[in-house]
Amino acid sequence: MSDKKGIDILDLIKKVLFTDFVKGLKVTLGYNISKSITHRYPDDEKWIPYRRFRGVHTLNRDENGRELCVACELCVKACPTSCITVVPMEDDTGRGIADRVAKVWRVNLVRCLFCGYCEDACPTRAVRLGREYELACSDFRCTVRNREDLLMPQPVPESIEGGIVAKAKFERPLSGIKVTADLKVTKKRAW
Ligand code: SF4
Ligand code: SF4
Repeated sequence: MSDKKGIDILDLIKKVLFTDFVKGLKVTLGYNISKSITHRYPDDEKWIPYRRFRGVHTLNRDENGRELCVACELCVKACPTSCITVVPMEDDTGRGIADRVAKVWRVNLVRCLFCGYCEDACPTRAVRLGREYELACSDFRCTVRNREDLLMPQPVPESIEGGIVAKAKFERPLSGIKVTADLKVTKKRAW
């Protein structure tokens, strides 16, 4: 009982002295007098997200280059927006880790929420959400990514932790915009 009374008095003192307001004001003023950081994107710099980032899907292989996807369709069932299509087929050429592989593996990025449920549901870690986030394009067809696109090596390798800014080259091909990061020239940036 006395403890509660002590807490009430402390709360009252805090309210009278506007301590929460002062704390908030301190943060705002801190930002006002701190040095501005300008991210020169897309002309010169590109943000490389952390590994945990949820960008465009990647389909992965094992160390022997075999596709990890066994076309079990669990990702299809887990997806809340039904944006994944998987068509399985039998294969005995050693293309995948099992005799069942994906004939079609397709994701419609317009409907995707990037929630990661497909990644969580996958028993072989074949599908992972990658670090590609530049989805703007002038052709609507580029919003659909197929197995062949997703199996391509990723521009940011898994060995790079992320959370860095890389030197970038900005191009405008007819298909949309392209920002290529030079991962040899990077710097840490405090946001
Ligand atoms: S990230 Fe979510 S919405 Fe997108 S394909 Fe995977 S499960 Fe579906
Ligand atoms: S990506 Fe994973 S969950 Fe989806 S079909 Fe392939 S193995 Fe199954």
